[in-house]
Amino acid sequence: MFSKILIANRGEIALRVVRACREMGIASVAVHSTADADAMHVRMADEAICIGPAPSSESYLSVPGIISACEITGAEAIHPGYGFLSENAAFVQVVEDHGLTFIGPRAEHIRIMGDKITAKETMKALGVPCVPGSDGGVPDLETARRVAEEIGYPVIVKATAGGGGRGMKLARDAAALEHAFGGARREAKAAFGNDEVYIEKYLGKPRHIEIQVFGDGKGHAVHLGERDCSLQRRHQKVLEEAPGPSITPEQRAEIGRTCAEAVAKIGYAGAGTIEFLYEDGEFYFIEMNTRLQVEHPVTEAIFNVDLVREQIRVAAGEPLSFSQDDLRINGHAIEVRINAEKLPNFSPCPGMVNTFHAPGGLGVRMDSALYAGYRIPPYYDSLVAKLIVHGRDRPEALSRLRRALGELIIDGIDTTTPLFVDLLEQEEIQRGDYTIHWLETYLANPQR
Ligand code: ADP
Repeated sequence: MFSKILIANRGEIALRVVRACREMGIASVAVHSTADADAMHVRMADEAICIGPAPSSESYLSVPGIISACEITGAEAIHPGYGFLSENAAFVQVVEDHGLTFIGPRAEHIRIMGDKITAKETMKALGVPCVPGSDGGVPDLETARRVAEEIGYPVIVKATAGGGGRGMKLARDAAALEHAFGGARREAKAAFGNDEVYIEKYLGKPRHIEIQVFGDGKGHAVHLGERDCSLQRRHQKVLEEAPGPSITPEQRAEIGRTCAEAVAKIGYAGAGTIEFLYEDGEFYFIEMNTRLQVEHPVTEAIFNVDLVREQIRVAAGEPLSFSQDDLRINGHAIEVRINAEKLPNFSPCPGMVNTFHAPGGLGVRMDSALYAGYRIPPYYDSLVAKLIVHGRDRPEALSRLRRALGELIIDGIDTTTPLFVDLLEQEEIQRGDYTIHWLETYLANPQR
């Protein structure tokens, strides 16, 4: 096992990794920018090193800075958290070239899943169900027209290098295709420097269902069921829950087995999430994230496992500490993402936190790097807290969430907390009956 791990991240996820390290008797090293000198992850880790100025491109994304910090502190492994360098295959290569261990999958698997066409081809070949569409890239409008006729309108044109919902255009009919095709290519070129696009059937009312998988890197893998992350705004997840209200135990077992077998076959190591759109009882693969997800705590709650501890164990060459048969779902968990944003426009709202009180009690978990007297810097992601509740069933989790939101105090800045208080009153949320479009439609309704 490692004796010291460096955490190449900030905020709540850096704290999350420090906590796992401490419970495992491993020393932790925080890295930070000059803007984060008084951040909680710096205070809580055993050691801290400043690696650059405020912009992430010069600090949290600085590969030389992070490698030097490992050399100075003697850290043997790097946990990347999510975002930043967590899905950067070139970084993984540099880490390995320096005789260090990357806590995550091999560079090769990150590379495959980072290119959407290659990811889709790979998954299809491994028996994972995919959205009907073009086989590979679509080079010109003529091909686009042929493919769209074959699969039927509406279709969506997507960038192979895409991410964050960019480089994606909907075409409802043949007349709209030319515009969508050109638009997606231009947007992809501008955002990713790569204008390759592909075409998929557009699903009108899907849910976002993702399967958590875990591989030991030696050809063995398990699944930890699904998370329903359909509540989204601008393709960003807002609330996540597990198990998915629309998924039956039989469906879970089947799609879970398919996913676990797929990653086992490629010798995948560590945590991964296979994302699907789910409509009319069918699953359609959209992408795989080769890292820990923001919403991993809902899975931890219902399976009573520590996914970060497991990532560290696997990276150190140890076997998984659970088998598929050990993994039994207990109750229901919900996470809400509390952002430092001002409603109704969700505009970023960094600044001084005067008072902070985290909710507690049975079945409540708060992952946050806030404290009273902390000034949230304006340079980074607006996520400031994740509130996770666990109950015996979904109604209990919902009432626990309502109770916990009532206890939460974040004073001095605006947060998205009132949105969740409001959402809990909505019938569709109470019934668990919502698609990926529900939240945007709800927010756009002037009557509410
Ligand atoms: P990104 O990597 O940019 O997030 P994804 O492929 O994960 O792109 O898709 C992001 C979102 O776009 C999905 O969660 C869904 O809301 C929508 N989307 C993607 N593909 C389709 C599709 N074939 N039909 C309908 N919606 C889609």
